[in-house]
Amino acid sequence: MDRHTPSSQPGASSRQADLFGYRKPRAPRRYLAHMSDVGDHGCIYEQGNTCVALFSCARCGWESGWLERRNKTHVLQGVPCMKCNDQAKGSLAD
Ligand SMILES: [Zn+2]
Repeated sequence: MDRHTPSSQPGASSRQADLFGYRKPRAPRRYLAHMSDVGDHGCIYEQGNTCVALFSCARCGWESGWLERRNKTHVLQGVPCMKCNDQAKGSLAD
């Protein structure tokens, strides 16, 4: 009988809690570009990265260019396709 509803709390402090206790919702729709080539160019990568990979989107043909990745597992996850995800948001102006 002593329950209080979240809406009865002052607004400001519950907003702050969201930042830390709540995971950002992911974009519902994401088109991924998958690895089309991967390699180690033998150059110096940014800290934490060990290889470079090229990603291409099967849907639109977008190509990422060489991106540094942490490791091959990371590479296999793909990257969001910039073209498709941009269109999904509804900005066709470009
Ligand atoms: Zn695409």
